[in-house]
Amino acid sequence: MCETRTAVIISAGTELIEGIIQDTHVRFLASELTSMGFQVLRGMQIPDSVTLFRKALADAVAEACLVIITGGLGPTSDDLTREMVADAAGVPLEFHPEAWEALLARFAGRAVSDTNRKQALAPKGFLLLPNPNGTAPGFHGTVGDALIVALPGPPSELRPMFSRSVMPLLREAFGGFSEADILWGTALMVPESSLEEALRACSRPGISWGTRVEEDRIGFSLRGGAPSDRDAFLGALTQRLGAVRIRQGETRPAQLLTEALLARDARLVTAESCTGGLIAKYMTDLSGSSRVYWGGFIAYADESKTGLIGVEDEVLREHGAVSEQAVRAMAEGAVAASGAELGIAVSGIAGPDGGTTDKPVGTVWMAAALRTGGGVTRMFSFSGTRDMIRRRSAVAAMLLGEAVLLGRDFLDSRAKW
Ligand code: ATP
Ligand code: MG
Repeated sequence: MCETRTAVIISAGTELIEGIIQDTHVRFLASELTSMGFQVLRGMQIPDSVTLFRKALADAVAEACLVIITGGLGPTSDDLTREMVADAAGVPLEFHPEAWEALLARFAGRAVSDTNRKQALAPKGFLLLPNPNGTAPGFHGTVGDALIVALPGPPSELRPMFSRSVMPLLREAFGGFSEADILWGTALMVPESSLEEALRACSRPGISWGTRVEEDRIGFSLRGGAPSDRDAFLGALTQRLGAVRIRQGETRPAQLLTEALLARDARLVTAESCTGGLIAKYMTDLSGSSRVYWGGFIAYADESKTGLIGVEDEVLREHGAVSEQAVRAMAEGAVAASGAELGIAVSGIAGPDGGTTDKPVGTVWMAAALRTGGGVTRMFSFSGTRDMIRRRSAVAAMLLGEAVLLGRDFLDSRAKW
């Protein structure tokens, strides 16, 4: 088998090509493979067509050491993956009684159509990959010099199979880093491009990195090298982007705020305008959040800012709802109206309409106020779509809350009181 870490990902399914469903597998697998040190040469979608499948597979086998195929393992005639891989390997399909038994067991006595027998077939000489969440097992084997891995289409089946079965398989086939050689980190409030630039600037010889973009953060891993080199790499990143933005370990902004609240034995109240409850959502995504989250106010219209949390009319009239004065009053008002020790408030212009020359779209004010007195305000000029501006605002506000609770600096916070 060839040994370079090159990979091609093939997503099979006509509904991908027709724009009916969005391909998320290429992104997921490319990110996982990249962080395992693979160079992903190509990721592509192909329809359920014998000619195009055959060509895609032949090209992939000729150029990469690893080919991952997703989808097309179901029982129906448009599910071609088994046949196409057998064809490329020049072997017949083989029936696996144990896979058939497992399938029958899943159906637990209900009638199983004979077409389902197809799901117990794999190219001769290939090994099955168990699928604990579905009926079709995956399989792996070689075609020419390339390792072929076939996985079922549903993400809830593919993703767990990837970490449980495929990662160990790849480690065995290509060698790899053990968990002890990996440093996990999280980048917050950092655009992907800036993180990439920083990783490149701070890199150390012998250490490779991978990133995974998520809704509220970017996870990254530093792999290989000595532990002290990885620590130095992380230290340089932190120096460059700031301790607010770079964290060791895999974490989420809501998790960080929760830990800070637990450490201070405090509870949080939120007053959200442009984020419309997104902070509340992130906080309550974590189970057990009732220990630290009192609840919140979605104070969207001016009337609710005055009515719910006592922001004075005059503040809104004089400074506007998107202003330092308004968010401070919102945060303090929310604390006063609740039993919480920390209040965070956000008010901004998420767009696409509503911007002015003074306050263009993306202008977001936020505040964090403590029941014991004092707090911090900060203004951001975010770019992006409405959705992105709202997510960025929520993340920044949670980190502002964390910083205020722990008495740390938050970027170049505009004002303290
Ligand atoms: P099944 O037994 O469910 O038919 P399968 O292995 O044959 O599984 P497909 O029929 O190709 O897989 O896809 C099944 C479903 O999985 C699709 O309807 C879609 O919801 C999801 N899916 C397939 N491929 C992708 C992809 N590339 N990205 C995201 N979702 C996908
Ligand atoms: Mg199918």
